[in-house]
Amino acid sequence: MTKHSATLALDEAVQARRAAGQDVLHLGFGEAGLPVSAGLAEALADAHLRNGYGPVAGSARARAAAAGWFGRRGLATEPEQVLFAPGSKPLLFALLAAIGGDVVLPTPSWVSYAAQAALLGRRVVAVPVPAEAGGVPDPELLEPALCRARAAGARPAVLVLTVPDNPTGTVAPAARVAAVCAIAERHGLAVISDEIYAELSHHGTAPSPARYLPERTVITTGLSKSLALGGWRIGFARTPAGRWGQWLRRELTGIASEIWSSLAAPMQAVAAHALDDPPAVTAHIAAARRLHARVATATHARLLAAGADCRPPQAGFYLYPDLAPAREALRARGVTTGPELATALLDRHGVATLPGSAFGEPTTALTLRLATSLLYGSTPRQRHAALTAAE
Ligand code: PLP
Repeated sequence: MTKHSATLALDEAVQARRAAGQDVLHLGFGEAGLPVSAGLAEALADAHLRNGYGPVAGSARARAAAAGWFGRRGLATEPEQVLFAPGSKPLLFALLAAIGGDVVLPTPSWVSYAAQAALLGRRVVAVPVPAEAGGVPDPELLEPALCRARAAGARPAVLVLTVPDNPTGTVAPAARVAAVCAIAERHGLAVISDEIYAELSHHGTAPSPARYLPERTVITTGLSKSLALGGWRIGFARTPAGRWGQWLRRELTGIASEIWSSLAAPMQAVAAHALDDPPAVTAHIAAARRLHARVATATHARLLAAGADCRPPQAGFYLYPDLAPAREALRARGVTTGPELATALLDRHGVATLPGSAFGEPTTALTLRLATSLLYGSTPRQRHAALTAAE
């Protein structure tokens, strides 16, 4: 049986507890939870009568806007390289399906990559990532892991990197990304670079693998996190220039044409507006970035004071504390695994978190992922005020 995605399953459990009158502090769901930026509702209203089907990859206007958006971020892009989709999650699935072969995943990594690989009947080649590495595997560990996987009959074909990272909320140093891309190239791997948190990097940009492996890196991103538009489902990919990119685009467009046909036309109009970087959108993202950085940094300090081990936050709104220093104290309370820890926090203290095992770690790991964006307030008015104060 296919399991429900861990994050969505936890969110539903929390909503059920709340409906039953329980007070739950929900730190388990990757939702920015901020208001809609000025200008986007107008763009949507202007486009709401667009009810016809459109090109699978997206309208010429939306693709040109995305190409310009990448270009202003240092990656020259032709509109033909861009493909829109209803969120980056289906795009990732379509990419894994198109590229084929087994999937190399840093561990821990975002919940859906391994689940999608399993749905496609692919093996996962897991490569552990040291805590300070920003979600990108240690080059020293990657090469032997690939050789071992091949010897065991796997066909590693694609490496998924998340830059900046979820669950750790950190950003890999450029030198590490470059070294890992060089190994990917030597081993004939394609790279999927999930950059959905790149606009929320607290200290500037994040190093895209597309700079180091330009002809074999495809970027996925979207507006769910930077503009808190998860429910509007706007995702897009930048496929590489060159022959492999051309082949990939054909495959991807074929898959998209059989599954989602195109991103909803009004949402393409919203995307085209937002990706032109109008001042209101730029200011909204900058305020969100400041708010995420401030709350994650303050929460990080409290976690350290409470004895947890935790990397300082560098992007987005996640922290990934390790409670291993409290292992003995937790054992005395009957908690020996990560899932038990998350359950105890929810049942005994009304705090919802996800254990590291949801991200591919062993259940013995006492890591938790906390989404600090859920601390901005429980009502839309409070969350609006938190963003306004960060402007
Ligand atoms: N990639 C990562 C790392 C994420 O955290 C998420 C959402 O939680 C997604 C992709 C999916 O985003 P969407 O499908 O809303 O674009």
